[in-house]
Amino acid sequence: MTKFQGAKTGTKAVWAGEKDYLVHGATQVPVIPSVAFGYDDMEEWYEVAIGNKKGHIYGRNTNPTVQAFEDKVKILESANAATSFSTGMAAVSNTLYTFLKPGDRVVTIKDTYGGTNKIFTEFLPRQEVEITFCETGNLKQIEAEVAKGCQILYLETPTNPTVKITDIQAAAKAGKEVGALVVVDNTFATPVNQNPLDLGADLVIHSATKFLGGHADALGGVVVGNNEQLVEAIYHYREINGATMDPWAAYLLLRGMKTLDLRVKRQAENAQKLAEYLQTVDGVESVFYPGLPTHPNHDVAKAQMRGFGGMLSFAVAGGVETVRDLLPKLQFANRAANLGAVETTVGPARTTSHVECTPEERAAMGIPEGLIRVSCGIEDAEDILADFKQAFSAVELAKA
Ligand SMILES: *Cc1c(COP(=O)(O)O)cnc(C)c1O
Repeated sequence: MTKFQGAKTGTKAVWAGEKDYLVHGATQVPVIPSVAFGYDDMEEWYEVAIGNKKGHIYGRNTNPTVQAFEDKVKILESANAATSFSTGMAAVSNTLYTFLKPGDRVVTIKDTYGGTNKIFTEFLPRQEVEITFCETGNLKQIEAEVAKGCQILYLETPTNPTVKITDIQAAAKAGKEVGALVVVDNTFATPVNQNPLDLGADLVIHSATKFLGGHADALGGVVVGNNEQLVEAIYHYREINGATMDPWAAYLLLRGMKTLDLRVKRQAENAQKLAEYLQTVDGVESVFYPGLPTHPNHDVAKAQMRGFGGMLSFAVAGGVETVRDLLPKLQFANRAANLGAVETTVGPARTTSHVECTPEERAAMGIPEGLIRVSCGIEDAEDILADFKQAFSAVELAKA
Protein backbone atom coordinates (compact mmCIF):
# COMPACT_ATOMS: atom_id res chain seq x y z
CA MET A 1 0.00 0.00 0.00
CA THR A 2 2.68 2.50 1.05
CA LYS A 3 4.42 1.68 -2.21
CA PHE A 4 1.80 3.67 -4.10
CA GLN A 5 1.96 6.77 -1.94
CA GLY A 6 2.63 9.68 -4.26
CA ALA A 7 1.81 7.65 -7.36
CA LYS A 8 -0.80 9.15 -9.68
CA THR A 9 -4.10 7.54 -10.65
CA GLY A 10 -2.96 6.22 -14.03
CA THR A 11 -0.05 4.38 -12.42
CA LYS A 12 -2.19 3.03 -9.59
CA ALA A 13 -4.85 1.85 -12.06
CA VAL A 14 -2.25 -0.28 -13.85
CA TRP A 15 -0.16 -1.62 -10.96
CA ALA A 16 -2.12 -1.48 -7.70
CA GLY A 17 -3.40 -4.64 -6.06
CA GLU A 18 -1.76 -7.10 -8.44
CA LYS A 19 1.63 -8.23 -7.14
CA ASP A 20 0.44 -10.18 -4.08
CA TYR A 21 -1.75 -12.41 -6.23
CA LEU A 22 0.60 -13.42 -9.05
CA VAL A 23 1.63 -17.09 -9.32
CA HIS A 24 4.10 -19.12 -11.44
CA GLY A 25 5.78 -15.92 -12.70
CA ALA A 26 2.58 -14.81 -14.39
CA THR A 27 2.30 -11.07 -14.95
CA GLN A 28 -1.51 -11.14 -14.68
CA VAL A 29 -3.76 -11.96 -11.72
CA PRO A 30 -5.31 -15.43 -12.15
CA VAL A 31 -9.01 -16.24 -11.88
CA ILE A 32 -9.35 -18.61 -8.95
CA PRO A 33 -12.85 -20.06 -9.13
CA SER A 34 -12.36 -22.49 -6.23
CA VAL A 35 -15.34 -22.44 -3.86
CA ALA A 36 -13.30 -23.71 -0.92
CA PHE A 37 -9.63 -23.56 0.15
CA GLY A 38 -8.12 -26.66 1.74
CA TYR A 39 -5.67 -27.20 4.62
CA ASP A 40 -3.64 -30.24 5.62
CA ASP A 41 -2.58 -28.57 8.85
CA MET A 42 -5.60 -28.44 11.21
CA GLU A 43 -3.97 -25.80 13.37
CA GLU A 44 -3.37 -23.51 10.37
CA TRP A 45 -6.95 -24.04 9.15
CA TYR A 46 -8.24 -23.03 12.59
CA GLU A 47 -6.01 -19.94 12.75
CA VAL A 48 -7.19 -18.78 9.32
CA ALA A 49 -10.82 -19.57 10.20
CA ILE A 50 -10.75 -17.41 13.32
CA GLY A 51 -8.93 -14.62 11.50
CA ASN A 52 -5.55 -14.88 13.26
CA LYS A 53 -3.78 -15.76 10.04
CA LYS A 54 -4.23 -14.51 6.47
CA GLY A 55 -5.83 -16.96 4.05
CA HIS A 56 -9.05 -18.10 2.44
CA ILE A 57 -11.66 -20.57 3.67
CA TYR A 58 -14.79 -20.34 1.56
CA GLY A 59 -15.71 -18.34 -1.53
CA ARG A 60 -18.70 -16.54 -0.03
CA ASN A 61 -16.30 -14.93 2.44
CA THR A 62 -13.12 -14.20 0.49
CA ASN A 63 -11.36 -15.16 -2.74
CA PRO A 64 -7.88 -14.11 -4.02
CA THR A 65 -9.07 -12.72 -7.38
CA VAL A 66 -11.85 -10.77 -5.65
CA GLN A 67 -9.36 -9.49 -3.07
CA ALA A 68 -7.05 -8.23 -5.83
CA PHE A 69 -10.02 -6.25 -7.18
CA GLU A 70 -10.71 -4.83 -3.70
CA ASP A 71 -7.04 -3.88 -3.25
CA LYS A 72 -6.95 -1.99 -6.54
CA VAL A 73 -10.05 0.08 -5.72
CA LYS A 74 -8.78 0.66 -2.18
CA ILE A 75 -5.53 2.10 -3.49
CA LEU A 76 -7.29 4.13 -6.22
CA GLU A 77 -9.43 5.80 -3.54
CA SER A 78 -6.44 6.10 -1.11
CA ALA A 79 -8.48 4.16 1.46
CA ASN A 80 -7.41 1.75 4.21
CA ALA A 81 -10.05 -0.92 3.63
CA ALA A 82 -12.39 -2.24 0.94
CA THR A 83 -15.03 -4.91 0.56
CA SER A 84 -16.84 -5.99 -2.60
CA PHE A 85 -20.27 -7.17 -3.75
CA SER A 86 -22.08 -8.91 -6.58
CA THR A 87 -23.54 -5.58 -7.81
CA GLY A 88 -23.51 -1.89 -7.03
CA MET A 89 -26.97 -2.17 -5.47
CA ALA A 90 -25.69 -4.90 -3.14
CA ALA A 91 -22.97 -2.46 -2.05
CA VAL A 92 -25.59 0.24 -1.39
CA SER A 93 -28.12 -1.99 0.40
CA ASN A 94 -25.57 -3.97 2.45
CA THR A 95 -23.96 -0.73 3.64
CA LEU A 96 -27.29 0.77 4.71
CA TYR A 97 -28.57 -2.43 6.36
CA THR A 98 -25.30 -2.98 8.24
CA PHE A 99 -25.77 0.19 10.25
CA LEU A 100 -29.47 1.08 10.38
CA LYS A 101 -32.04 -0.09 12.94
CA PRO A 102 -35.65 0.88 13.71
CA GLY A 103 -35.99 4.46 14.91
CA ASP A 104 -32.92 5.67 12.99
CA ARG A 105 -33.00 8.57 10.54
CA VAL A 106 -31.26 8.99 7.17
CA VAL A 107 -30.78 12.34 5.46
CA THR A 108 -30.28 12.06 1.72
CA ILE A 109 -30.95 13.83 -1.58
CA LYS A 110 -33.83 13.54 -4.04
CA ASP A 111 -31.67 12.49 -6.99
CA THR A 112 -30.01 9.28 -5.83
CA TYR A 113 -29.76 6.37 -8.29
CA GLY A 114 -33.19 4.80 -8.95
CA GLY A 115 -32.47 1.57 -7.04
CA THR A 116 -31.06 3.47 -4.07
CA ASN A 117 -34.14 5.70 -4.07
CA LYS A 118 -36.33 2.56 -3.93
CA ILE A 119 -34.48 1.36 -0.82
CA PHE A 120 -35.25 4.73 0.75
CA THR A 121 -38.91 4.88 -0.31
CA GLU A 122 -39.96 1.22 -0.28
CA PHE A 123 -37.77 -0.92 1.98
CA LEU A 124 -36.19 1.10 4.81
CA PRO A 125 -39.51 2.66 5.91
CA ARG A 126 -40.73 -0.92 6.54
CA GLN A 127 -37.96 -1.21 9.15
CA GLU A 128 -39.18 2.05 10.67
CA VAL A 129 -36.20 4.01 9.44
CA GLU A 130 -37.10 7.63 8.72
CA ILE A 131 -35.77 9.07 5.46
CA THR A 132 -35.55 12.79 4.70
CA PHE A 133 -34.96 13.90 1.11
CA CYS A 134 -33.22 17.21 0.39
CA GLU A 135 -32.79 19.16 -2.86
CA THR A 136 -29.53 17.81 -4.24
CA GLY A 137 -27.73 21.10 -4.81
CA ASN A 138 -29.19 22.84 -1.73
CA LEU A 139 -26.44 22.72 0.88
CA LYS A 140 -28.36 24.91 3.36
CA GLN A 141 -31.27 22.47 3.41
CA ILE A 142 -28.95 19.48 3.81
CA GLU A 143 -27.13 21.18 6.69
CA ALA A 144 -30.41 22.11 8.40
CA GLU A 145 -31.84 18.58 8.13
CA VAL A 146 -28.59 16.95 9.27
CA ALA A 147 -28.43 19.30 12.28
CA LYS A 148 -31.73 17.81 13.51
CA GLY A 149 -29.81 14.55 13.99
CA CYS A 150 -29.35 11.47 11.80
CA GLN A 151 -27.37 8.21 11.77
CA ILE A 152 -26.48 8.32 8.07
CA LEU A 153 -25.99 11.17 5.61
CA TYR A 154 -26.18 9.54 2.18
CA LEU A 155 -24.94 11.48 -0.86
CA GLU A 156 -24.32 10.85 -4.54
CA THR A 157 -22.61 13.43 -6.74
CA PRO A 158 -22.86 13.98 -9.69
CA THR A 159 -26.37 12.50 -9.91
CA ASN A 160 -28.41 10.67 -12.48
CA PRO A 161 -29.54 11.96 -15.00
CA THR A 162 -29.29 15.75 -14.55
CA VAL A 163 -25.74 15.59 -13.09
CA LYS A 164 -26.52 17.72 -10.03
CA ILE A 165 -23.67 18.42 -7.61
CA THR A 166 -23.53 18.41 -3.80
CA ASP A 167 -20.70 20.07 -1.87
CA ILE A 168 -19.21 16.95 -0.23
CA GLN A 169 -16.83 18.73 2.14
CA ALA A 170 -19.45 21.06 3.60
CA ALA A 171 -22.13 18.38 3.85
CA ALA A 172 -19.69 15.90 5.43
CA LYS A 173 -18.71 18.51 8.00
CA ALA A 174 -22.39 18.91 8.97
CA GLY A 175 -22.68 15.12 9.20
CA LYS A 176 -19.65 14.83 11.46
CA GLU A 177 -21.07 17.43 13.83
CA VAL A 178 -24.02 15.16 14.65
CA GLY A 179 -21.97 11.94 14.61
CA ALA A 180 -23.55 10.64 11.40
CA LEU A 181 -21.85 8.22 9.05
CA VAL A 182 -21.23 10.04 5.77
CA VAL A 183 -21.65 7.77 2.74
CA VAL A 184 -20.99 8.93 -0.83
CA ASP A 185 -21.81 7.04 -4.04
CA ASN A 186 -18.85 7.99 -6.26
CA THR A 187 -19.91 5.94 -9.32
CA PHE A 188 -20.35 8.88 -11.72
CA ALA A 189 -17.20 10.75 -10.72
CA THR A 190 -14.84 7.72 -10.41
CA PRO A 191 -11.61 7.91 -8.35
CA VAL A 192 -10.00 9.62 -11.34
CA ASN A 193 -12.09 12.76 -10.81
CA GLN A 194 -13.03 12.75 -7.13
CA ASN A 195 -12.00 11.15 -3.81
CA PRO A 196 -14.81 11.72 -1.26
CA LEU A 197 -12.74 10.25 1.62
CA ASP A 198 -10.33 13.17 1.25
CA LEU A 199 -13.34 15.52 1.50
CA GLY A 200 -14.54 14.03 4.80
CA ALA A 201 -16.72 11.06 3.79
CA ASP A 202 -16.54 7.89 5.92
CA LEU A 203 -17.53 5.41 3.23
CA VAL A 204 -17.40 5.53 -0.57
CA ILE A 205 -19.50 3.28 -2.78
CA HIS A 206 -19.03 2.35 -6.44
CA SER A 207 -21.11 0.42 -8.87
CA ALA A 208 -18.07 -1.25 -10.46
CA THR A 209 -20.40 -2.27 -13.29
CA LYS A 210 -20.06 1.23 -14.71
CA PHE A 211 -16.82 3.21 -15.14
CA LEU A 212 -14.52 0.99 -13.03
CA GLY A 213 -15.10 -2.04 -15.26
CA GLY A 214 -15.73 0.18 -18.25
CA HIS A 215 -16.67 -2.53 -20.74
CA ALA A 216 -20.27 -3.32 -19.76
CA ASP A 217 -19.45 -7.01 -19.38
CA ALA A 218 -19.35 -7.59 -15.60
CA LEU A 219 -21.49 -6.63 -12.60
CA GLY A 220 -19.95 -5.62 -9.30
CA GLY A 221 -19.95 -3.22 -6.37
CA VAL A 222 -17.45 -2.05 -3.78
CA VAL A 223 -17.28 -0.01 -0.57
CA VAL A 224 -14.08 1.62 0.69
CA GLY A 225 -13.24 3.59 3.82
CA ASN A 226 -10.44 4.67 6.11
CA ASN A 227 -11.96 3.17 9.27
CA GLU A 228 -11.24 -0.56 9.01
CA GLN A 229 -13.88 -1.44 11.61
CA LEU A 230 -16.66 0.17 9.58
CA VAL A 231 -15.66 -1.71 6.42
CA GLU A 232 -15.22 -4.94 8.42
CA ALA A 233 -18.79 -4.58 9.73
CA ILE A 234 -20.11 -4.26 6.17
CA TYR A 235 -17.97 -7.23 5.09
CA HIS A 236 -19.45 -9.29 7.91
CA TYR A 237 -23.01 -8.39 6.87
CA ARG A 238 -22.21 -9.34 3.27
CA GLU A 239 -20.40 -12.62 4.07
CA ILE A 240 -23.49 -13.76 5.97
CA ASN A 241 -26.14 -12.34 3.61
CA GLY A 242 -24.24 -13.58 0.59
CA ALA A 243 -24.05 -10.88 -2.12
CA THR A 244 -20.50 -11.94 -3.01
CA MET A 245 -18.59 -10.84 -6.11
CA ASP A 246 -17.85 -13.66 -8.56
CA PRO A 247 -14.11 -14.29 -9.26
CA TRP A 248 -14.73 -14.16 -13.02
CA ALA A 249 -16.37 -10.74 -12.64
CA ALA A 250 -13.46 -9.66 -10.42
CA TYR A 251 -11.02 -10.63 -13.17
CA LEU A 252 -12.89 -8.65 -15.85
CA LEU A 253 -13.21 -5.63 -13.56
CA LEU A 254 -9.49 -5.78 -12.68
CA ARG A 255 -8.60 -5.91 -16.36
CA GLY A 256 -10.96 -3.03 -17.12
CA MET A 257 -9.58 -0.87 -14.34
CA LYS A 258 -6.08 -0.88 -15.82
CA THR A 259 -7.29 1.65 -18.40
CA LEU A 260 -9.58 3.57 -16.02
CA ASP A 261 -7.53 6.76 -16.03
CA LEU A 262 -7.17 6.85 -19.83
CA ARG A 263 -10.82 6.08 -20.42
CA VAL A 264 -12.28 8.51 -17.91
CA LYS A 265 -10.13 11.42 -19.09
CA ARG A 266 -11.12 10.78 -22.70
CA GLN A 267 -14.80 10.43 -21.74
CA ALA A 268 -14.71 13.77 -19.91
CA GLU A 269 -13.09 15.48 -22.90
CA ASN A 270 -15.76 14.05 -25.20
CA ALA A 271 -18.55 15.02 -22.79
CA GLN A 272 -17.30 18.62 -22.56
CA LYS A 273 -17.19 18.94 -26.36
CA LEU A 274 -20.59 17.30 -26.83
CA ALA A 275 -22.18 19.48 -24.11
CA GLU A 276 -20.79 22.65 -25.70
CA TYR A 277 -22.03 21.55 -29.12
CA LEU A 278 -25.50 20.66 -27.80
CA GLN A 279 -25.85 24.19 -26.39
CA THR A 280 -25.68 25.51 -29.96
CA VAL A 281 -28.37 23.21 -31.39
CA ASP A 282 -31.80 24.68 -32.18
CA GLY A 283 -34.39 22.51 -30.52
CA VAL A 284 -32.19 21.53 -27.59
CA GLU A 285 -33.90 23.23 -24.66
CA SER A 286 -31.35 22.58 -21.94
CA VAL A 287 -28.00 20.88 -21.44
CA PHE A 288 -26.84 19.51 -18.10
CA TYR A 289 -23.09 19.03 -17.56
CA PRO A 290 -21.01 20.08 -14.52
CA GLY A 291 -18.25 21.32 -16.85
CA LEU A 292 -20.50 24.03 -18.31
CA PRO A 293 -20.33 27.46 -16.63
CA THR A 294 -24.15 27.49 -16.92
CA HIS A 295 -24.40 24.53 -14.49
CA PRO A 296 -25.84 25.85 -11.18
CA ASN A 297 -23.06 24.22 -9.13
CA HIS A 298 -20.22 24.53 -11.63
CA ASP A 299 -18.05 26.23 -8.97
CA VAL A 300 -18.55 23.43 -6.43
CA ALA A 301 -17.81 20.84 -9.13
CA LYS A 302 -14.65 22.72 -10.07
CA ALA A 303 -13.49 22.78 -6.47
CA GLN A 304 -14.11 19.12 -5.61
CA MET A 305 -13.54 17.36 -8.95
CA ARG A 306 -10.39 17.03 -11.06
CA GLY A 307 -12.51 16.42 -14.17
CA PHE A 308 -16.24 16.67 -14.80
CA GLY A 309 -16.87 13.10 -15.93
CA GLY A 310 -18.39 11.41 -18.95
CA MET A 311 -22.08 11.83 -18.07
CA LEU A 312 -24.35 14.55 -19.42
CA SER A 313 -27.99 14.97 -20.32
CA PHE A 314 -30.03 17.26 -22.54
CA ALA A 315 -33.69 17.98 -23.18
CA VAL A 316 -35.13 18.23 -26.68
CA ALA A 317 -38.15 20.23 -27.79
CA GLY A 318 -41.06 18.00 -28.76
CA GLY A 319 -40.54 15.64 -25.81
CA VAL A 320 -41.05 11.91 -26.21
CA GLU A 321 -41.80 12.11 -29.96
CA THR A 322 -38.49 13.79 -30.72
CA VAL A 323 -36.59 11.32 -28.53
CA ARG A 324 -38.27 8.43 -30.37
CA ASP A 325 -37.16 9.84 -33.73
CA LEU A 326 -33.71 11.06 -32.76
CA LEU A 327 -32.10 8.19 -30.83
CA PRO A 328 -32.41 5.48 -33.52
CA LYS A 329 -30.58 7.79 -35.95
CA LEU A 330 -27.33 7.67 -33.96
CA GLN A 331 -24.76 5.37 -35.52
CA PHE A 332 -22.12 5.33 -32.77
CA ALA A 333 -24.27 4.81 -29.66
CA ASN A 334 -25.89 1.95 -27.84
CA ARG A 335 -29.47 2.66 -26.83
CA ALA A 336 -29.28 0.91 -23.46
CA ALA A 337 -29.70 1.32 -19.70
CA ASN A 338 -26.04 1.09 -18.66
CA LEU A 339 -23.37 3.76 -18.49
CA GLY A 340 -19.63 4.18 -18.10
CA ALA A 341 -18.72 1.88 -21.00
CA VAL A 342 -16.18 2.50 -23.77
CA GLU A 343 -19.09 2.85 -26.20
CA THR A 344 -21.22 5.99 -26.11
CA THR A 345 -24.55 4.97 -24.58
CA VAL A 346 -27.79 6.95 -24.77
CA GLY A 347 -31.23 6.53 -23.27
CA PRO A 348 -34.32 8.53 -22.33
CA ALA A 349 -34.55 9.22 -18.59
CA ARG A 350 -38.18 8.05 -18.72
CA THR A 351 -37.00 4.58 -19.89
CA THR A 352 -33.78 4.26 -17.87
CA SER A 353 -32.99 6.06 -14.61
CA HIS A 354 -36.56 7.18 -13.83
CA VAL A 355 -38.70 4.48 -15.40
CA GLU A 356 -40.49 3.86 -12.09
CA CYS A 357 -41.81 7.43 -11.86
CA THR A 358 -44.95 8.94 -13.37
CA PRO A 359 -44.53 11.87 -15.81
CA GLU A 360 -45.76 14.16 -13.00
CA GLU A 361 -43.16 12.79 -10.57
CA ARG A 362 -40.45 13.24 -13.19
CA ALA A 363 -41.59 16.81 -13.79
CA ALA A 364 -41.45 17.50 -10.03
CA MET A 365 -37.84 16.22 -10.05
CA GLY A 366 -36.94 18.55 -12.93
CA ILE A 367 -36.77 15.73 -15.48
CA PRO A 368 -38.51 16.69 -18.73
CA GLU A 369 -40.04 13.89 -20.84
CA GLY A 370 -37.63 14.84 -23.63
CA LEU A 371 -34.54 14.32 -21.46
CA ILE A 372 -31.80 12.17 -22.98
CA ARG A 373 -28.93 10.82 -20.89
CA VAL A 374 -25.59 10.39 -22.60
CA SER A 375 -22.69 8.36 -21.27
CA CYS A 376 -19.84 9.45 -23.51
CA GLY A 377 -17.57 6.70 -24.77
CA ILE A 378 -13.94 6.82 -25.81
CA GLU A 379 -14.61 7.30 -29.54
CA ASP A 380 -13.07 10.29 -31.30
CA ALA A 381 -14.92 13.48 -30.36
CA GLU A 382 -15.16 14.54 -34.03
CA ASP A 383 -17.09 11.37 -34.83
CA ILE A 384 -19.42 11.71 -31.83
CA LEU A 385 -20.23 15.31 -32.80
CA ALA A 386 -20.71 14.43 -36.47
CA ASP A 387 -23.00 11.59 -35.46
CA PHE A 388 -25.21 13.83 -33.32
CA LYS A 389 -25.20 16.47 -36.11
CA GLN A 390 -26.46 14.03 -38.72
CA ALA A 391 -29.08 12.67 -36.29
CA PHE A 392 -30.39 16.16 -35.51
CA SER A 393 -30.53 17.12 -39.18
CA ALA A 394 -32.48 13.95 -39.95
CA VAL A 395 -35.31 14.76 -37.54
CA GLU A 396 -37.79 17.60 -37.44
CA LEU A 397 -36.90 19.48 -34.26
CA ALA A 398 -39.55 21.85 -33.04
CA LYS A 399 -37.62 25.07 -32.47
CA ALA A 400 -36.88 25.69 -28.82
C1 LIG B 1 -25.76 1.64 -11.62
C2 LIG B 1 -25.62 2.41 -10.36
C3 LIG B 1 -25.81 1.78 -9.12
C4 LIG B 1 -26.20 0.32 -9.01
O1 LIG B 1 -25.22 -0.51 -9.55
P1 LIG B 1 -25.53 -1.98 -10.14
O2 LIG B 1 -24.18 -2.52 -10.39
O3 LIG B 1 -26.36 -1.78 -11.38
O4 LIG B 1 -26.29 -2.71 -9.09
C5 LIG B 1 -25.65 2.54 -7.97
N1 LIG B 1 -25.34 3.85 -8.05
C6 LIG B 1 -25.17 4.49 -9.21
C7 LIG B 1 -24.83 5.93 -9.24
C8 LIG B 1 -25.30 3.79 -10.42
O5 LIG B 1 -25.13 4.44 -11.59
